[in-house]
Amino acid sequence: MEHPLISVVIPCYNEKDNLSRLHQALTGVFVSLNSRYDAEFLFIDDGSADGTAAEIEKLTQSDLRVKLISFSRNFGKEIATSAGIRHARGAAVIMLDADLQHPPELIPLFLEKWQNGAEVVVGVRANNKSYSLIKKCGATLYYKLIGAISNTAMVPRETDFRLINRSVADAFNTFTERQRNTRALIDWLGFRREYIEFNANERANGQAKYSLGKLFHLAMYSFVSHSLFPLRIAGYLGTFITFCSGLLGIAVFFERYVFHDALSWHISGSAQLAIINVFLIGIVLMCLGVVALYIENIQNETTNRPMYVIRKKKL
Ligand code: UDP
Ligand code: MG
Repeated sequence: MEHPLISVVIPCYNEKDNLSRLHQALTGVFVSLNSRYDAEFLFIDDGSADGTAAEIEKLTQSDLRVKLISFSRNFGKEIATSAGIRHARGAAVIMLDADLQHPPELIPLFLEKWQNGAEVVVGVRANNKSYSLIKKCGATLYYKLIGAISNTAMVPRETDFRLINRSVADAFNTFTERQRNTRALIDWLGFRREYIEFNANERANGQAKYSLGKLFHLAMYSFVSHSLFPLRIAGYLGTFITFCSGLLGIAVFFERYVFHDALSWHISGSAQLAIINVFLIGIVLMCLGVVALYIENIQNETTNRPMYVIRKKKL
């Protein structure tokens, strides 16, 4: 490969005012690499209402490397990124935000790590200065929780600013789930990873589209899609309650009816009823836990993730 092709995937939602700056920055980067690489810039217009698509189309006329995919409506960043990866033809695919929060000047660093054998290169935010306190706390809590309950390890502050090589992109394209979190899916794939710390700039123009509500929804969804822990908790709780109230019930039965209140516990009829009640509630919760196991099984089958991911074959 003389000049490997590098695909840059950029999801854009109402980013009209950032496009020409971004395009200039990208052009500059690839010039600075002395044409060691060919490039394609895949702009995905995610149903913007501000003429983003027209602006990208203008760019396609002056620069043949610019490609446009324009959605019929807003599908969300995760889907836009997935469409970009699907249409990318490069030996490596780099994804970055259109608002210049992911500095394009770092692309040579990503490429260097890739050339040195990394299959996934992940940008990690060194600071969160543009984030509000509540977003910061939310993010910390999110990573703690998801780290504890799911079996995909996620690094805090890791971003969507990433490079993946061709094998990873091909594997990524086999995912069929509709509700998706690009980061989590790439993390799930494994492969040799490297990290690059960067300072996230302030967003260049316009406003962040991920409101707190949207972020919360995304977080809840990724809990549910990466683990059935919340439902299993019910099962564990049920087992605990059944066990404790069962023991208590047996003790009360012997004390009251076999030894005729020898220890003078004076357990009233309503107290006995309460113990029986709690015991039954425990059984119901336990059954919920069992149902969780069945749902997990169905979920695994319907998500239809690849059973395994191959790095290389020599048959
Ligand atoms: N984006 C998108 N579709 C959406 C929301 C956002 O394609 O529905 C793009 C947006 O244009 C930007 C990137 O995703 O390039 C990150 O969005 P934003 O800056 O709003 O998020 P944040 O920086 O807060 O993570
Ligand atoms: Mg942003």
